[in-house]
Amino acid sequence: MSNITENLDEVEKKIQAACDRAKRPRESVTLIAVSKTKPVSDIREAMSHGATVFGENKVQELRDKTSQITEDVHWHMIGHLQNNKVKYLPGMVDMIHSVDNLKLAQEIEKQAAKHDIVMDILCEVNMAGEDTKFGLAPSECISFIESIKDFEHLRIRGLMTIAPYTEDPESNRQYFRGLKELLNKANEMKLTKEPMDTLSMGMTGDYEVAIEEGATLVRVGTGIFGERNYAI
Ligand SMILES: *Cc1c(COP(=O)(O)O)cnc(C)c1O
Repeated sequence: MSNITENLDEVEKKIQAACDRAKRPRESVTLIAVSKTKPVSDIREAMSHGATVFGENKVQELRDKTSQITEDVHWHMIGHLQNNKVKYLPGMVDMIHSVDNLKLAQEIEKQAAKHDIVMDILCEVNMAGEDTKFGLAPSECISFIESIKDFEHLRIRGLMTIAPYTEDPESNRQYFRGLKELLNKANEMKLTKEPMDTLSMGMTGDYEVAIEEGATLVRVGTGIFGERNYAI
């Protein structure tokens, strides 16, 4: 077996075990295979082993890959997004995870309206307050949702966070728990037409803890495709 196939088996086992510990059904968690920087051949290999949802963080790379892979797989935009690239996304991705400012939300609204679709989005929250990361401060999250909740071509499905890089996944549990509390609070306030149902949290180093804390989408790159080489 190749590495990608073995890795997918391993990740699947860990997801199942985390679901068991949390007494959650396996179907409540979707694995997003984060294929950024990796070649189409790697994506095809993951597809042949059952992966159906892929995450990318650059619009140009998404365009390249989706033009080559025309099978019925799902793509999510998980990376920081510039307004002038939004126009490519309607029809290409199922969800945009990285919405953290009004101008961007307005642009997504505009482009989605042009395509006559409703775009699923997540609000990105910088739970640990790291300077190096994008995202709303937790204290801004509720008012941000209020400011975009009436946009007709956006469906705010939930929240996303990128936790700090750490060797100790337990140290990120507080951030995952905090994100879920924010989601619950916004739902109690009935900010959105439908209750938000999506928590995108957990990466290779910490997705098991994230699932224990309620993640519905986990974004796993290195754990499936191996280390990324940015030099090439
Ligand atoms: C790269 C990336 C991931 C995957 O990271 P790994 O640690 O390789 O699993 C997840 N989420 C986002 C937003 C990313 O940019």
